[in-house]
Amino acid sequence: MSTPTDALLAFDRDHVWHPYTSMTAPTPVRLVTGARGTRLTLDDGSELIDAMSSWWAAVHGYGQPSLDAAVASVDFAHVMFGGLTNAPAIRLAQRLVELTPEPLERVFLADSGSVSVEVALKMALQWQRGAGRPGRTKMLTVRGGYHGDTFGAMSVCDPVGGMHSMFTDVLPRQHFAPRPPAPGSDEVAGWIDAFRALAAEVSDEVAAIIVEPLLQGAGGMWVYDPQCLRTMREVADEHDLLLIADEIATGFGRTGTLFACEAAGVVPDLMCLGKALTGGYLSLAAVVCTDRVARGISGSESGVLMHGPTFMGNALACTVALASLDLLVANDWAAQVARVGARLVVGLEPCRELPGVIDVRTIGAVGIVQVDHEVDVVRAAQAAAEHGVWLRPFRDLLYAMPPYVTEDGDVDRICAAIAAAVEVA
Ligand code: PMP
Repeated sequence: MSTPTDALLAFDRDHVWHPYTSMTAPTPVRLVTGARGTRLTLDDGSELIDAMSSWWAAVHGYGQPSLDAAVASVDFAHVMFGGLTNAPAIRLAQRLVELTPEPLERVFLADSGSVSVEVALKMALQWQRGAGRPGRTKMLTVRGGYHGDTFGAMSVCDPVGGMHSMFTDVLPRQHFAPRPPAPGSDEVAGWIDAFRALAAEVSDEVAAIIVEPLLQGAGGMWVYDPQCLRTMREVADEHDLLLIADEIATGFGRTGTLFACEAAGVVPDLMCLGKALTGGYLSLAAVVCTDRVARGISGSESGVLMHGPTFMGNALACTVALASLDLLVANDWAAQVARVGARLVVGLEPCRELPGVIDVRTIGAVGIVQVDHEVDVVRAAQAAAEHGVWLRPFRDLLYAMPPYVTEDGDVDRICAAIAAAVEVA
């Protein structure tokens, strides 16, 4: 007998696109009926520990009373930001100015991470025009990166591993330096020379360097040496380039400092924020830049920044973001991330011995197991689910980015589930 759930899933299969999937041969999906704390409840009543934080956003887990209360508290969900403003958006901007390193102090509120990357790229182009360098229309970045799925963002993703290689012919051509090497690697000095040489060669046509600080996420979960980020800062200064730090995945504590840049002692000219900004409740992102950048943009021929999405400054999302930032502090995010991270280090260590594993690496509350082949995502997720854990591997990677509130015993179960997934995938 067909149940309402069967009917829902049938419609989903036939009519609804999921990320990076085929409409004609979709991969199976699980129907979530509840989410509380660190647990997802499925329609069959089973519970899974969420090791993914809903793509790295739900850092406090689900159904947090203070975030739920924030949602219920708003007088209005949204009013346009053109010609109007609202207190939650202003307060959030104030908080972001306080939290981000000085001199980042001018805030653009966007509606998703990819859009914030587009805005940052546009800011850099307008800034160069304002500085009398209209020929600087390209970006300099590194291989192994991921910055989103819109066209400008795609153009600075890794050209091979960035999931967008079929669009190569229509994307703007950017400059790619090699992928920055792992912390402490003896390849760091050579990388620095190569990066400096490339920058010297192409800087005349480059507006900005864009990079994910210390952890390259969806481009391959690569952790790299902080010296490489410091080099990018120096090179940007030497060649009048702006440095854009894409902290969409790393921001708000994930790698152990509030922003990953801080661990390298680097302050970018522009910083993109998203994902965990609302604790995973709503889509919201921001670009925070320096006064120097903002003034330079005003010096471009239009005099204004040419961007303004419909849902800019959404009051509901900004209200939740404020509550999420309060909760980060109240929960002592630094202690949580250190605790979860230390547990991941210990718990994933045995994976090194498993057949097919070529690397195990961690940073902050991120644990990564890399294997020597493309993972069978469906089989791996099934094996993890049998261990009571929700995993969503990609490429050759099985990884965990659990909510910061994940308890020790649950971190251990996540590690066991990753090991089980490695065995079958
Ligand atoms: N930049 C980075 C570093 C990301 O990890 C992501 C999302 N995975 C994005 C940009 C794009 O964000 P969104 O999916 O919200 O557009």
